[in-house]
Amino acid sequence: AFVVFEGGDGVGKTTQVARLAAWLTGRGTPHLVTRQPGGTPVGSELRRLVLDPAMGHVDARAEALMYAADKAQHVHEVIEPALLRGEVVVCDRYVDSMIAYQGAGRALDIDDVARIAWWAVAGRRPDLTILLDADPADAVEAIADKDRLEGAGIELHRRARRFFLDLAAAEPDRYLVLPARSGRDDLAAAIADGVARLLG
Ligand code: C5P
Ligand code: MG
Repeated sequence: AFVVFEGGDGVGKTTQVARLAAWLTGRGTPHLVTRQPGGTPVGSELRRLVLDPAMGHVDARAEALMYAADKAQHVHEVIEPALLRGEVVVCDRYVDSMIAYQGAGRALDIDDVARIAWWAVAGRRPDLTILLDADPADAVEAIADKDRLEGAGIELHRRARRFFLDLAAAEPDRYLVLPARSGRDDLAAAIADGVARLLG
C-alpha cells in the first residue's frame, strides 16, 4: 500500500511520518519511509538545487522540471520496487505538493503541472493521502526557515493550502484530512486508524 503525507510547511508531516513508521514497526508490517524531494541520490542533489538560495532565481518551469525529475527517479528507484516487495510505502510529500506549490502556488498553469507530475510518476497513485491541514499563519516560523520560499510570501502558502483542501474534497475516499493543530498523540492515533482501515 502507498500512503502519502501532504500539507503545508511546518504542519508536522515529518513528525507524523515517524510516528506512523513506529506504529507499523510495532505491528510488524514491513514498510519503507521516504520523501520528495530527496528520496534518492539523484533526488538529494535536485533537492539541494531547488532549495539552495545561492542558486538565485530559478525559472518556474525549470524548478517544476527538477521536482518532476526527482519524482520520476524516486518512483522508479524506490517506490515501485518497495510496493512490489509488498511493503507499505510512507512518503513525505508527493504529486499534490508539486501541483500545489509549482502550480497553484506559483505562476504555472495547474493543469500543465498536474500532467507533468502524473507523467513523471508514471501514474502511480497513492492508496491513501493524509492531509495535515493548518492555517499558514500558524506555521510562519517553519515557513520563514525556508529561504527560497520566504520571498514568495504567505499568499503562496495560502493558495497551496486551499488547493490541497480542494483536492481532498474532490476525492474524499482517498484522503484523510486532519487538523494539524490537534495534539501530536491524537493525530498519530487518527492516522494509525486510517492506515489500519486501509490495510484491513
Ligand atoms: O517538506 P520539505 O521540507 O521536504 O520541503 C522543503 C521545501 O520545499 C518546503 O519549503 C516546501 O514548501 C518546498 N516544496 C516546494 N515544492 C514541492 C515540494 C516542496 O516548493 N513540490
Ligand atoms: Mg517536513
